Amino acid sequence: MLNSHALEMPSSYLFSEIGKRVSAFQEKHEADGPRIIRMGIGDVTRPLPGACVEAMRKAADEQADAATFQGYPPGEGYDFLRGAIAEHEYKRRGVNIPADDIFVSDGAKSDSANIQELFDNDCVVGVTDPVYPVYVDSNAWSGRLGSYSGGQWERLVTFPCTRENGYVASPPDGHVDLLYLCFPNNPTGTAATAKQLREWVDYANKHGAVIVYDAAYRAYIANPDIPRTIYEIDGAKDCAIEICSFSKSAGFTGVRCSWTVVPRELRRGGASLRALWTRRQATKFNGVPYIVQRAAEAVYSPDGRRQCAETIAYYMRNALKVRQALTDAGIEATGGENAPYVWMRCPNGMDSWSFFDYLLKEARVVGTPGSGFGACGAGYFRLTAFGSSEDTDEAMKRIALL
Ligand SMILES: *Cc1c(COP(=O)(O)O)cnc(C)c1O
Repeated sequence: MLNSHALEMPSSYLFSEIGKRVSAFQEKHEADGPRIIRMGIGDVTRPLPGACVEAMRKAADEQADAATFQGYPPGEGYDFLRGAIAEHEYKRRGVNIPADDIFVSDGAKSDSANIQELFDNDCVVGVTDPVYPVYVDSNAWSGRLGSYSGGQWERLVTFPCTRENGYVASPPDGHVDLLYLCFPNNPTGTAATAKQLREWVDYANKHGAVIVYDAAYRAYIANPDIPRTIYEIDGAKDCAIEICSFSKSAGFTGVRCSWTVVPRELRRGGASLRALWTRRQATKFNGVPYIVQRAAEAVYSPDGRRQCAETIAYYMRNALKVRQALTDAGIEATGGENAPYVWMRCPNGMDSWSFFDYLLKEARVVGTPGSGFGACGAGYFRLTAFGSSEDTDEAMKRIALL
């Protein structure tokens, strides 16, 4: 017998449907106009920082010598990397996270999908709408969301992010046990202020809820008043798990390295979530390669920090251009200031897919229909800043002429 919850999951249709429509358009029209520009990609395109590549080469040489060879890595990560993360990502921002509350992993996607294993199947799960689909699908897979009908999961609570609330939801009136927040947000590109995060932390502590905080885009925060980590908020260590990644901050989408903080203060029903996560990882995970962890450590070297900052600045110049070009065209757009995503309202009341087709046909630009991220994404569209600056300029020129 197969997992009935897994069998009930709707197929993930968004990116395959985009691929189909683009191929169909190419077949018919490829030859008769300018090339297609892709602004739907959620993957980085700039190469790895040189400091990281150098560190990988050196680590590879160490693996070639019996005196320096490394076998299985420690399951929670090497101390050199956990220490570097504690120092650079937390201590230097005035937040004290002990290195041994940091768990090095192979991706924020896997950790954000796996973290639900710590929780009872009766937990009520809440997510923002629109949402990064992993949080929902991983809970559905485990049967925590009940059955799927009419385009909805029976037991899932959603927090609408709309233009009325500036695309940052407030906590609900009712009760949820496990809730997922992602700031800066994919897909809306919005960042939460300290005041907004404090509402969620207070809610979680009052309800005994746990927040899973996905901060994969924290390196894109330009505004110094926006928290880079949820632990800047008092009381967060009592209720929040934070998931971060080198994917978007240092171009590690193909290299694979991330970290998750499970604070020792976080306890529920008398048990430590940190101890439970340690146990879970020891059971199912054998660690991140030595070579990769050395590359991640190099992100914090003086050269690594400068190189990462340059790449992020490159993407953010794109993001600002996109936001500006849309605004100049009279299109309502948000994001792009503290995140590599711009979230726009489809003009003239078009729905997300009609606008997708329109933009493809008239400008030969590909983006991502907002409706693919949840019901509240209907009528919206996501453009990313991860393309080349030349492509971004050209795409915005075309949009301006529409
Ligand atoms: C890209 C992204 C991640 C990063 O995932 P990795 O597995 O570390 O590459 C995590 N969360 C969100 C919302 C993302 O968009």
